Amino acid sequence: MTDLEDAQQLVLEACPPLPAEEIEFTDALGRVLAADVRATEDVPPFANSAVDGYAVRAADVATAPVELTVVGELAAGAAPFEGELGPGQAVRIMTGAAVPAGADAIAMVEDSERLGDGRVRLHRPLEPGSAVRAAGDDVRAGEVVLRAGTVVRPPVLGLLASINARRVSVHRAARVAVLSTGDELVTDGSPLRPGQIRESNLTMLAPLLAEAGCVVDVRGVVPDDDATLEAVLRDAAARNDAIVTSGGVSMGDYDVVKAVLGRIADMQWMQLAIKPAKPFAFGLLDGTPVFGLPGNPVSSLVSFELLARPALRRMMGHRHVSRTSLVAITDEELPRQPDGKVHFLRVTGSFADDGRYHVRPVGAQGSHQLAATALADALAVVPDGPGLPAGAEVAVLLLRW
Ligand code: AMP
Ligand code: MG
Repeated sequence: MTDLEDAQQLVLEACPPLPAEEIEFTDALGRVLAADVRATEDVPPFANSAVDGYAVRAADVATAPVELTVVGELAAGAAPFEGELGPGQAVRIMTGAAVPAGADAIAMVEDSERLGDGRVRLHRPLEPGSAVRAAGDDVRAGEVVLRAGTVVRPPVLGLLASINARRVSVHRAARVAVLSTGDELVTDGSPLRPGQIRESNLTMLAPLLAEAGCVVDVRGVVPDDDATLEAVLRDAAARNDAIVTSGGVSMGDYDVVKAVLGRIADMQWMQLAIKPAKPFAFGLLDGTPVFGLPGNPVSSLVSFELLARPALRRMMGHRHVSRTSLVAITDEELPRQPDGKVHFLRVTGSFADDGRYHVRPVGAQGSHQLAATALADALAVVPDGPGLPAGAEVAVLLLRW
């Protein structure tokens, strides 16, 4: 049996980051920056007010209360104040409006009292710079604001917009072909004939790939026929950065994926020291990485999560390729028998008042039993041995789909 870590290292090494491309920043959500982003403008572009209030000369408000003459009003986006604020003068100013020349502090409206005669009384003394947002105090022109490797999340998009970075260099999204194999699989909702079952893996893997950030090329269910499968795989390899297959990689006589890829690709057939998802294949077909996932739905899911997803994330430039892991508390016993394998039990959990993530198993854990697994939001990593008692700490991988 192959250790999971060795298999993970093998696939990660065979899946280096894809080249960069330059795209509109508005299309970059979820992508990974391939180059540092340098600001070309100051943010904010001009000194402006942090509050609604009165722009003043701080020297006039060194002691309070003090009364000043209101000589104008400035809203955000308004034309700048004409001329310079003189001694004894104040300008009514709104948040975001440019601070008038001559003014160097803003009194909050909450600390003011408008008098009937065009003056304002300010109740608190002010320091120079008070409530003024200086030009460039967020970002300075020329500064590197985002490093290569940053994942473009919504606030990053907001930052890119604020510095007018219209085009950005990002790693390409991986184009991934996905297919199921198996003559027993039915996809069209028709009544099942004897021996048939309904397809579930393709239906599950396609959105998992999309959620991982891949562009998905759905190839459907391919019959257990060598020539057909070879043609589909060769075409898929020519048009994609990777291929994910489900089924046909274990010891059965009709395991066509094994037969065909064994003949046309450079593959490693592994029996991983994990449960579920023992059979797993990985290799290159005409240089394109192929992930051969087992057919049992739970196994398919677990090997996708542990092996395919991290490698695909690496191709797309991610530095953190695994799901988030943390040490949780199991509220129920996690039973297992010693068998030389690490078990990945499907669990559901939530954070409790003690600040710890508490989990419990979801139910039937067979590798064909998707019903319980569909409700899991984490995989509990139960090392070889007799299992874990209720209340024990257990490492979990959070699957937030
Ligand atoms: P295989 O890996 O092809 O030997 O399949 C192992 C088990 O998983 C068999 O019981 C198959 O019927 C089942 N299976 C294979 N592919 C799928 C699929 N796409 N959806 C649901 N079950 C599948
Ligand atoms: Mg099969």
